[in-house]
Amino acid sequence: MSIAVTTDIVETARVRHDLWPVATAALGRAMTGAILLAGDFKNHENVSLRIKGDGPLGVVHVDAFSDNTVRGYVDEPHVDVPLKHAGKLDVGAAVGHNGEVQVTRFTQLAQDYTSTSPIQSGEVAEDLAYYLYTSEQVPSTISLGVLVDPDYHTVVAGGFIVQALPDATDEALAMVETNINELGPVTEYLKAYPDGKGLVEKVLDGLTVNEVYNEPISFKCRCSRDRFAGVLMTLREDDKKALLEDETTELVCHYCNEKYHFSREELEDMFAPKGLIQ
Ligand SMILES: [Zn+2]
Repeated sequence: MSIAVTTDIVETARVRHDLWPVATAALGRAMTGAILLAGDFKNHENVSLRIKGDGPLGVVHVDAFSDNTVRGYVDEPHVDVPLKHAGKLDVGAAVGHNGEVQVTRFTQLAQDYTSTSPIQSGEVAEDLAYYLYTSEQVPSTISLGVLVDPDYHTVVAGGFIVQALPDATDEALAMVETNINELGPVTEYLKAYPDGKGLVEKVLDGLTVNEVYNEPISFKCRCSRDRFAGVLMTLREDDKKALLEDETTELVCHYCNEKYHFSREELEDMFAPKGLIQ
């Protein structure tokens, strides 16, 4: 079992992308899910998760890296859909009920592994559990939750995944299922215990628990000015010329919404043919 408390990560994403509540909930669940899919980070595996539904959010993009960092965005951050019963955000309607979940696992050493499964509800947790079962043959229980305030800020966010080892007994599985049902929504638990303390013991109540690792995770992008400069260098000559017509060129990173500015003088210098000085 793994748990992830992602309140700070989700709030960072919300501020960076100016997410509206249902977008915060969808991206927050997806980022938490990707972190859980990446597992213990000990095998240095990165996970890219794309949820391509037919809802107004467009595609939900998340990358969880083996250095305990995660980044993500949605195509349309300013989405509003009617609330569900009891004032709940309708993530399923925002993501869409049709489409696919695509997961890519990649390391520096092994070849990328990409697999997809159809979206079940668009509520993310159920879609990821279905993905794990059908594409990776791993029966899992996943719970993900993001609680957003009326003023839009993230109150709590987090989730957990339980995967039974092949030798798990039926009694143990039934016990865990009962515990999860008694627990209720994970956001309720995190409201009472914001650091997730005691959650593992509660879900695995009646079983022996060993803590194997406990590491902080953060929202962090891999973009940099140098990287964008490198991209500019690969443009066609016509496109380079077009950029030079502007006083400054602004590039925006999709993943973290960081803005990079290049002045005309800088670009002229970058694009100038570099040869030996005669
Ligand atoms: Zn970035």
